[in-house]
Amino acid sequence: MEPINISNGFLTVKNETTGQHRTFRVRTQKEDAKFAPGMRIVALLTGPDNTSDYRGFGFVLDNGWISLWKKNKTTHFEGLAKAVRLASKAIEKGESSFTTQKAAYSVQLSKRCLRCNRTLTTPESLERGLGPECAKR
Ligand SMILES: [Zn+2]
Repeated sequence: MEPINISNGFLTVKNETTGQHRTFRVRTQKEDAKFAPGMRIVALLTGPDNTSDYRGFGFVLDNGWISLWKKNKTTHFEGLAKAVRLASKAIEKGESSFTTQKAAYSVQLSKRCLRCNRTLTTPESLERGLGPECAKR
């Protein structure tokens, strides 16, 4: 298995066939964290706040492999882990898309809203450079 560089940050992967997208966060736990200090955790955006509503599902290992937590060892999360790995590989190569046997996907790193500087994670907002509120104004 070739190593992949999975960077810390926010990553949005859109299935271009279904139009659905998912946002992931990768970050390193603080050294004084109660849970897994110093470890890197991959998490899925599961709520309306794209800076905090993330649910972790695995550890990101140094070689770019994702070790799913026991309760997340399901086909669903295996698919998500694969998406994060393929997306990171695309970014590493300077590309913004990848394909699997099932579909074509686009990959975007988060950006900041040009007006209010909030984190943007949806494909629409990333394309506009503005969040939904600022786009209305
Ligand atoms: Zn804004």
